[in-house]
Amino acid sequence: MSREKLKSLGLKLPLFPTTSVGSFPKPDYLSKARAEFIKGKITAEHLHELERKATKFWIQTQEKLGVDVLVDGEMYRGDMVAYFAERLPGFAEGGLVRSYGNRYYHKPIITGGVEWPGPVTVEWWKYAQSLTKKPVKGMLTGAYTIMDWSFNEHYADRRATAMALAGVIRKEVEALIVAGCKIIQIDEPALSVRPEELPVAIEAMDATTKGLEAYFITHACYGAFEQIYPGMLELAVDNFDLEMANNELGLLEVFRGQPFTKDISFGVVDVHSHTMEKEDTVRQRVEQALTILSRDQIWVDPDCGLKTRTVDEAIEKLRLCVAAAEAFRN
Ligand SMILES: [Zn+2]
Repeated sequence: MSREKLKSLGLKLPLFPTTSVGSFPKPDYLSKARAEFIKGKITAEHLHELERKATKFWIQTQEKLGVDVLVDGEMYRGDMVAYFAERLPGFAEGGLVRSYGNRYYHKPIITGGVEWPGPVTVEWWKYAQSLTKKPVKGMLTGAYTIMDWSFNEHYADRRATAMALAGVIRKEVEALIVAGCKIIQIDEPALSVRPEELPVAIEAMDATTKGLEAYFITHACYGAFEQIYPGMLELAVDNFDLEMANNELGLLEVFRGQPFTKDISFGVVDVHSHTMEKEDTVRQRVEQALTILSRDQIWVDPDCGLKTRTVDEAIEKLRLCVAAAEAFRN
């Protein structure tokens, strides 16, 4: 598997490395500050200060819990597509649409050629990494998903749009690598929504990561994976971060027919539920994973971003992940 690649990047991770998908809940003071900023009641500097404070809180919390590969928690982001669309030339803000469940976002419109404006996430990554000796993941939204979740008025078709975006995201990946980032997650939640477009997603990921020196993870979290498996394994990443707990590990059955050939960040706690899993339940999920996957392949994490949980719930769900991983290391 990819243990060799991790080693060659100078990353020493234990078996069953623990991580999380990316977003954590924003503390109350930050949610309030974001609302006040929109109303013009506080300055951008003041908001930025509070975003840094919240980022520090989450880095320290992950360290205390013993998580191996940290995330910055995305305290400075709202929607995962809009965050990039608002910063990339070529996009205009669109109308409010429903993305999933009760979540609404402004669906961006591509009105001109998309361009990379210079580093978008690098300062935040550097700040988070400066607070810890553990590796912090770089976190980007993938070209295919940005394309799928935007309106296109400029490019000839969906493939052309995805490929143009891939060129832009690749530049951000390169900037993260130059800054010292070694593990980069490129989220593609739209991956399995249109199975017939898998080749486009694969081509776009190739254009984003091929030939670059980092350990790449992609997170995808809903849709019909059985329809894009095993083809999806051709995506140019080292690790698939997948929602497993939420569908009672149903995907494991899909892997039984055709071996899973990459590393996997195996979701062991449901992020959509307030209910707290029992330690036993989480351990059993890892045990189930081991019936199909090898010890070297498995990372342990929550199903998806924890941003919709409360701060306390998010901490407890993370703690459960770490406890389960540690149980299997011994
Ligand atoms: Zn997700």
